[in-house]
Amino acid sequence: MIAEIISIGTELLLGDIVDTNSTYIADKLTANGYDIHYMTTVGDNRERLIRVLKKAISRADIIITTGGLGPTDDDLTREAIAAATGLPLKKVPALVEEIKDYFQHKNYPMTENNYKQAYLPEGSRPINNQRGTAPGILLETDSYIIISLPGVPREMKFMFTEEVIPYLQNLLQGKIKSKVLNFFSIGESTLETEIKDILDKQTNPTLALLAGTGEVKIRITAKGKTDQEVDRLIQGAEREIRERVGQYIYSVNDEDLAVVTGRLLVEKGLTLSVAESCTGGLIGNRITDVPGSSRYFMGGMITYSNQAKMCHLGVKSIILENFGAVSRETVSEMAEGVRKKMSTDIGIAVSGIAGPEGGSKEKPVGTVYIGLSTPTGTDTFKLKLKGDRVWNKWMSTQYALYYLYKYLRES
Ligand code: ATP
Ligand code: MG
Repeated sequence: MIAEIISIGTELLLGDIVDTNSTYIADKLTANGYDIHYMTTVGDNRERLIRVLKKAISRADIIITTGGLGPTDDDLTREAIAAATGLPLKKVPALVEEIKDYFQHKNYPMTENNYKQAYLPEGSRPINNQRGTAPGILLETDSYIIISLPGVPREMKFMFTEEVIPYLQNLLQGKIKSKVLNFFSIGESTLETEIKDILDKQTNPTLALLAGTGEVKIRITAKGKTDQEVDRLIQGAEREIRERVGQYIYSVNDEDLAVVTGRLLVEKGLTLSVAESCTGGLIGNRITDVPGSSRYFMGGMITYSNQAKMCHLGVKSIILENFGAVSRETVSEMAEGVRKKMSTDIGIAVSGIAGPEGGSKEKPVGTVYIGLSTPTGTDTFKLKLKGDRVWNKWMSTQYALYYLYKYLRES
């Protein structure tokens, strides 16, 4: 099935905002077996929008638009679809009630133009928008399908995952599926070399090597006559890849390391605390982004200065003097210190030089140490990161969680 994405909004053309909606949708469509031939951005202009829609109708099976669904005068998507398809706008009574309810619930005053959102091109049905007022539009005809979603990313994404993806999957009757394997601490080229023969012989399933943020992924996509056949094909390829490079796989389908490690901590009934220096609380933040993390995460300390490391974690001054704050010895004491202070099974510590200043010949910017203290002992790891401050901080959290993951997997 050929899909086309249209992002609508003059702000996009002015460069005021980045078109993240199209990338998001393209990624999801591709993962579900749709082929995208065109992506267009068009401003809030009625005539041009109609022209773009007509063009898309002539060359795609399924058209997804974002933006321009709101109540204001520059929101033209609804009318443009009606004009491009020749289907008149009809008032949907259920939508009028929904919109009224929404405003009542929020205690917002409702204006006449809000009713605009209750009109849909004849024959289409609304897509529920639980995070805003503008409902989406789903228009199915014999020769094309148009799906219109609001421009606000958090509304669009929610509707896309809740409503559109199940619909799209059903359209292909589950005969095409994909699965992502997430790798860490192995580079793209090394991974490619390790599994070159598997990559070379691929036809069905197909394998795509993708570079993520500091990680590499493989997307396995299989086609078949039945769900079972597709699942079997994916499993076969996954098994082959895991046998070769399974030790680098930390997650499937882009599940975050904080979620993966959280699940393992619950399974094993272990508790965790963190002592952070250069990451400034970012590890704790990632851990607590996971709902239910209070079951295993007891807390953390941001010990940025030497004084704080000594005072709150019991790092010895002689250690700091002899080896420095960024050293194996220090993170080892930090990890043990926080573990003891917070009475947890595991303590993680990070200390490093995020940059741009503070580097030296022996310890250049990007030198980071991670300490992992567990009931079986304390391990330390050295990283040599090569990014800017934000990147180095992010990668430090990624490695810290990765070493925790490895410990949990192997223990
Ligand atoms: P609303 O009801 O809020 O007006 P809408 O469907 O009319 O929703 P727009 O007015 O087109 O949507 O866009 C609302 C906001 O959503 C924009 O100001 C912008 O911040 C964001 N947005 C719109 N389109 C995109 C896009 N393609 N990528 C990322 N952000 C977008
Ligand atoms: Mg708008």
